[in-house]
Amino acid sequence: MIFNVLGLTLLIILILILVLIFITSNTNPVFTERSFYALGTVMYLKAFGKKGEIAIEKAIERLIDIDNKMSAFKDYSEISKINRNAGMLPQIVSYDTYSVIEKSIKYSELLEGTFDPTIRPLVSLWNIGTKYEKIPKQNEIDEKLKLVNYKDIIINKTDNSIGLKKKGQALDVGGIAKGFAADEIKNIFVKYDIKSALINLGGNILVLGNKNDGTPWKVGIQNPFKPRGEYIGILTAKDKSIVTSGNYERFFMKNGKTFHHIIDPKTGYPSESKVVSATIISDKSIDGDGLSTGVYIMGIDKAMNLIESIKGIDAIFITEDKKIYVTSGVKDNFKLFNNEFIYNKNY
Ligand code: ADP
Ligand code: MG
Repeated sequence: MIFNVLGLTLLIILILILVLIFITSNTNPVFTERSFYALGTVMYLKAFGKKGEIAIEKAIERLIDIDNKMSAFKDYSEISKINRNAGMLPQIVSYDTYSVIEKSIKYSELLEGTFDPTIRPLVSLWNIGTKYEKIPKQNEIDEKLKLVNYKDIIINKTDNSIGLKKKGQALDVGGIAKGFAADEIKNIFVKYDIKSALINLGGNILVLGNKNDGTPWKVGIQNPFKPRGEYIGILTAKDKSIVTSGNYERFFMKNGKTFHHIIDPKTGYPSESKVVSATIISDKSIDGDGLSTGVYIMGIDKAMNLIESIKGIDAIFITEDKKIYVTSGVKDNFKLFNNEFIYNKNY
């Protein structure tokens, strides 16, 4: 009898311990997170799972590698090498740089030249986001405009070389490289058996799986008229890239006018389409990044039609007059909670 009571007590204690272990393992999940600076912006990685630490370490190594190959600000990068040799000799580059340029050309064509990786001469003329930012003279803009044309990129698959036709031409993959990097990090995470992760490369977001508790990730859509961190609504997502191009990312004000960092290759000025924020939801972040920069410039009607026509890719646009445009694939996943903004009825 005494043994039975003791046995029962031990059993109950054992069960309690097991329950406790179960509860703590659920509310205290193992995750690793890291913030750091790369590709000209702040990166944040969060990975759930036992191999989170090593996976993030490898991801950071890969990001530095990509930065070293593609930064237009580093003399030794492959992009700088191509730029220095513009009008002269094409340069043999890594498969990474080659494939980013190849994709960029594809998007330039699809986006009718609104996205253009040869935008660099104009970007460095405006210098937006640096202490040298200024409104350039019209003749300077006209001069640089002649150099911007993605059709002048010489690309050769047989020897993995890239060149530029004219002297003075220069590449800038700032509009697409973060998307490429996010996809690469995702691949590393998957390799390390990470089932749930958040990759945030300066606002370019890629979520892997669901959150650790099994519910979808919630991603805030920035209010383009307010400081960072104020959202107009929430998008729920699983295994998706969510990339936004917005006028609030980098800009300066002069004479009451805002000059932001997305340059229209046709005018040489910051895009003046009525779109102030373009979010692309896709499986691959390189698609989201390339598309978001271009559709931002295209204007709302063309942009809506284009994104609706591409299977597996969706968008949320915000226009200057606070109208929201959402493509059919994300209607059910987006919750608007700021009533200053209204849905456009035409779509
Ligand atoms: P962010 O870098 O703020 O995430 P984007 O992905 O839209 O935003 O990229 C903007 C960057 O792309 C600019 O800083 C510049 O380097 C480059 N860029 C600007 N205009 C264009 C353009 N029309 N086509 C391609 N790249 C562009
Ligand atoms: Mg982009």
